[in-house]
Amino acid sequence: MIRRTVLITLSLAAFGTAGLWLIGYMTPLTWSHQTKTRLVVIAVSDGELMLRRRSSTLDWRSSPATHDDAWPLKQVKHGPYLGIRLELAKASVGEAGAIYGSKTVIPLWLVFTLLIFYPAAAFLRGPVRRRRRRRRGLCVQCGYNLTGNTSGTCPECGVAVAG
Ligand SMILES: [Zn+2]
Repeated sequence: MIRRTVLITLSLAAFGTAGLWLIGYMTPLTWSHQTKTRLVVIAVSDGELMLRRRSSTLDWRSSPATHDDAWPLKQVKHGPYLGIRLELAKASVGEAGAIYGSKTVIPLWLVFTLLIFYPAAAFLRGPVRRRRRRRRGLCVQCGYNLTGNTSGTCPECGVAVAG
């Protein structure tokens, strides 16, 4: 039951991701949340998910410069690793203030692949196992060896045997 819930949740998340992926090509999507000292932006566009975070030791309202969307200097870039890019940045503001920023870009095909992997494997496992058992002359239901069996049913589980 838990397994089924996990499979359904992962599948829905995967198809949700695929939907965002497609929509992001037509219209860039952006969500942002801002507090006094922190800005968090989540955006989807051109097949990528971007997480951007900025925090400041200063109040945004008292130092409008930190509010500026321009990416501060002194950034360190990592990646891409499988299309994942990470940028870290720090900038000094005024006398004692500092802004810390981070930007993570993850390709949506990677998110989709990770989410769909387990549901797809679970979905394909049944047919693959049945075909392998049929080829080896085993009962497709329980795997019992049916060599020499002419009764038309599996003696182990009672399922009807074809041919
Ligand atoms: Zn059987």
